[in-house]
Amino acid sequence: MALMITDECINCDVCEPECPNDAISQGEEIYVIDPALCTECIGHHEVSQCVEVCPVDCIILDPDTTETKEQLYGKYLALTGRAQQVPQG
Ligand code: SF4
Ligand code: SF4
Repeated sequence: MALMITDECINCDVCEPECPNDAISQGEEIYVIDPALCTECIGHHEVSQCVEVCPVDCIILDPDTTETKEQLYGKYLALTGRAQQVPQG
């Protein structure tokens, strides 16, 4: 699963620079996580870095994304260019 930020976010900007995938950005009202980029930090870190630093614990598993650990690792490989035949962009 990717993670998501709830409306309890206080826009402190602590999480954004911690994300190894640049999945976090400032949305219209609160910070948001792009589910296409979030790997739950798999491949980079043992634990989700954003969850570790969020002072109000408002980052949770997104119930709308149902990826397995293997799929998340595959996403990590694709995002980091470690997978074969990664589209060049
Ligand atoms: Fe980024 Fe990791 Fe948080 Fe996902 S869990 S948004 S990859 S810091
Ligand atoms: Fe919002 Fe938590 Fe990120 Fe701060 S660390 S911007 S409160 S999600």
